[in-house]
Amino acid sequence: MKYETVIGLEIHLELQTRSKLFCSCSTAFGQEPNTNCCPVCLGLPGTLPVFNRRAIELAVTAAAALNSAVQTKSRFDRKNYFYPDLPKAYQISQYDQPLAKGGYLEIEFDHERRIITLERVHLEEEAGKLLHSGDSIFEAEYSLVDYNRAGIPLLEIVTSPAIYSGREARLFLEDLRLLLRYTGVSDCKMEEGSLRCDANISLRPAGSSGLGTKTEVKNMNSFRAVELALDSEAKRQEAILAAGLAITQETCHWDEEKKETVPLRDKEGSSDYRYFPEPDLLPLILETSFIEKLASSLPELPFGRRRRLQDQYGLDGKTANLLTENRELGDFYESAAKDYHEYQNLAKWVQGEMLFQLYDQGKSAADINPALLVELLTLLDTGEINRPVAKDLLEEMMQSGKSPRILAREKSLTRISGKEKLLPLVEKVIAENPDAVESYRQGKEKAIAFLVGKVMALSGGRADPGELNSFIKEKIGK
Ligand SMILES: [Zn+2]
Repeated sequence: MKYETVIGLEIHLELQTRSKLFCSCSTAFGQEPNTNCCPVCLGLPGTLPVFNRRAIELAVTAAAALNSAVQTKSRFDRKNYFYPDLPKAYQISQYDQPLAKGGYLEIEFDHERRIITLERVHLEEEAGKLLHSGDSIFEAEYSLVDYNRAGIPLLEIVTSPAIYSGREARLFLEDLRLLLRYTGVSDCKMEEGSLRCDANISLRPAGSSGLGTKTEVKNMNSFRAVELALDSEAKRQEAILAAGLAITQETCHWDEEKKETVPLRDKEGSSDYRYFPEPDLLPLILETSFIEKLASSLPELPFGRRRRLQDQYGLDGKTANLLTENRELGDFYESAAKDYHEYQNLAKWVQGEMLFQLYDQGKSAADINPALLVELLTLLDTGEINRPVAKDLLEEMMQSGKSPRILAREKSLTRISGKEKLLPLVEKVIAENPDAVESYRQGKEKAIAFLVGKVMALSGGRADPGELNSFIKEKIGK
């Protein structure tokens, strides 16, 4: 029997606020353990949580960017469970009245547009972090706990079971990260844990519409790991089904070393968490005007920009992608394109020589004035400088921020052209290289290239090879 994989993702990301969700402790990453904590985020008796307005703004911004319907009334609940990284033994989260419902993200999958639908977007607080001794959680003799992370605002995004392969899950995550960075919601650094992803995965007979028994895959620490883990888990389930056995609903751990998923423990159902309304917080009531204001201040989003770059400038998909993913480079391109309309040529320089120089000089495109590149390309187009000179000037102009026209004049790099200036150089080279001249007269075409090279060297690389070619032929008389 052929099976189809069905995947739903649960993404957690830390919001880019300066302070925690319910207290004023710092959210800075990499601080001395247990220094960014207070009685509120440690849940000591007698303390009360207070909303961080910025966290709510960012959560609403993210929901709006994901086309998710922000609710004017939502509520916070206590999710009760015991684990050493949770100082209060409950997490303030949202359960049956989330911040936003539904939504979707449009992605490109094998040149086709795909809509990945969402179930919900909600706000909750982050847990602390356990640091295990030894190489793995299974072998640890002891664990240490750092509560600096406890209470950082966390956004949970839950997709529908609407993803059908590991690769599609990865592409979705890449586009989601781009979107959340564009909107300034989160830095989405998977390596620092500010974006994490768990997945539910099940198989069903190809072509059917129900859902099979699912397992939950955890511990995927990179987008690549997500793709590998989900494909590996699909294979594991397929083998079980092919043997006529049933899938057990359980949690699996992705083993990065062995590149396989390992069943870990039975999954809790939501009833195990004994959710009840958080008694220390009022329901969250948002004015429609507050939601609309945030939604209308969204920047142009990546998917739309990618398409517009192709339509407006005739760029190919790959270039449009690069200019979307590197937002500063895209802004630079568009700013330069206002005054320079050879869009293909501009794109060639921006993603070629300029990008190379940016890496080399450790700069961002935002550090470079687009008018300088326009000036440089205009000098090249009008023939005032040649291509090798343009490359040198680009490097220098990006280093110094000086006008390429002025640089070219200062260094006498403008092109030497016209008979008046070139002929003396041509005559000198012909007089000094009688052998090459003779070879050419006897039919050796290659000799002309040698002579052109000699004159080029004399001109300091500032002559045009095509023009030289015809002058030399004319002069030698053939
Ligand atoms: Zn605190």
